[in-house]
Amino acid sequence: MTEFTGKAVFGGIAIGLASVYRKKDSSVEKRTVEDPGKEWERFEEAVETAKEELQALYDKVAEEVDEESAMVFEVHQMMLEDDDYLESIEDMIKEENLNAEYAVSTIGDNFAEMFSEMKDDEYMQGRAADIKDVSSRVVRILSGAADETAKSDVPMILLADDLAPSETVQLDKSKILSFVTRFGSTNSHTSILARTMNIPALIRVDFPEDADMKEAIVDGFAGKLILEPDEKTLEHYRELYKKEQEKRELLEKLKGKENKTIDGREIRLFANIGSVSDVSDVLNNDAGGIGLFRSEFLYLESSDYPTEEEQFKAYKTVAEKLEGREVIIRTLDIGADKSCDYFGIEKEENPALGYRAIRICLDRTDVFKTQLRAIYRASHYGCIGIMFPMIISVDEVREIKKIVEEVKASLKEEGHEYGDVELGIMVETPAAVFMSEELAEEVDFFSIGTNDLTQYTLAIDRQNARLEKINDPHHPAVLRAIETTIKNGHKHGTWVGICGELAADTSLTETFLRMGVDELSVSPSRVLSVRDAIRKTDLSK
Ligand code: PEP
Ligand code: MG
Repeated sequence: MTEFTGKAVFGGIAIGLASVYRKKDSSVEKRTVEDPGKEWERFEEAVETAKEELQALYDKVAEEVDEESAMVFEVHQMMLEDDDYLESIEDMIKEENLNAEYAVSTIGDNFAEMFSEMKDDEYMQGRAADIKDVSSRVVRILSGAADETAKSDVPMILLADDLAPSETVQLDKSKILSFVTRFGSTNSHTSILARTMNIPALIRVDFPEDADMKEAIVDGFAGKLILEPDEKTLEHYRELYKKEQEKRELLEKLKGKENKTIDGREIRLFANIGSVSDVSDVLNNDAGGIGLFRSEFLYLESSDYPTEEEQFKAYKTVAEKLEGREVIIRTLDIGADKSCDYFGIEKEENPALGYRAIRICLDRTDVFKTQLRAIYRASHYGCIGIMFPMIISVDEVREIKKIVEEVKASLKEEGHEYGDVELGIMVETPAAVFMSEELAEEVDFFSIGTNDLTQYTLAIDRQNARLEKINDPHHPAVLRAIETTIKNGHKHGTWVGICGELAADTSLTETFLRMGVDELSVSPSRVLSVRDAIRKTDLSK
């Protein structure tokens, strides 16, 4: 029996045979060409064929799975239209007289490397697999090979270096018990898919090549892969698996049920999302709405400022899909760990304490107004709330409200319609906690961001792995800050939610309910277990 550890990206237990997924040898020959113009044409034809294949894949997956899962093929088609990518390939073919296969493969690798080096940006790291995937498609077409996808006949634990999005979506889902990859990130498509499929997944596991067809166990709670387990270990995990299944079945039964304690107190149980494609998880897990829509993705995905129209479309889509349930959009929160090159932000000594979130928006009001215009326009199509991150003072809120009024006035003048929009702030700095009584007079709601509130209260960088042991969100100072915020909010009729990771910690559900919290907003896959905890709480005792 051998054990390997990695990072769990989704919990659960899987027991079965390991299948090591090997990609075809994709080494590409480097040649000089006599007629670079003709070679470029050959490339252009291959791109057209690739786009047709991708469209067919999009249609297939949209019909057989859903549109969200198919989106990746639309992204791939867009990558094939990216000017930087195309120009780099063109230069290599036309300036260096090199063959198209080599140019595509080299440029694809360069772009992938560039993305995967964006260590502070998990989203872009995740896109490295996409650019490699789409480049190998073009190379395959150029070399005249047939399309191949991974297949297995019995349900298996899939072990791979990393899986390209087009590989994962084409896999027969009923035959996969778990994903284990050597590389990949929390935000990679394999991780996202595992969460959607509700199966355990591990990343950064250095499994041996000869694991193929060996009996295996994936422990998605402890982040472990066990090969050739002994009988005792197997027995232990069979028992755990059974319990896990029973738990899941019980949770499924909670769909459609109220988030009400035994003694009758009901709260809002909402979900957090980071992109439009997460909406299906929100709906599948029966969340009451969206308590935190991290709007950064629009900025991080793009190589330039997203336009009002692009943003409007994204917010409108989410609002419409939620069919009247509230969607709280958090305005841009970049800076610190989320960097965006085109903002031209200078490197800082202490980025977490630096130029970030609302500080950027109040400085760059052009960027802020564009986002607010898009959100207000989308509010006509559903129920939208807005919240502002990293607030530290009443003055900031007053300034924001002034800008909001300007935006509304100009939209009205232009004939745009908008709905009633609740305005709130994130309470994630100690200053906001101390000022919560005054702040409550200014806004409709508070949403406590425990991730940052813990970081700033304890003065522990949330990114610093070395301090993970003492980074304790259960610290009494953090809990007291939450209690103070709820109490002060309620003094002025301001409702108070929690949207940081702590909201999903079921060992604290009763504590939060006793503090009087009005909303818990958690990642979609945690909604039902939090509902379960709420329904088991009796506040009368
Ligand atoms: C938080 O700080 O708790 C929060 C929800 O925001 P983010 O994790 O995006 O900083
Ligand atoms: Mg935060």
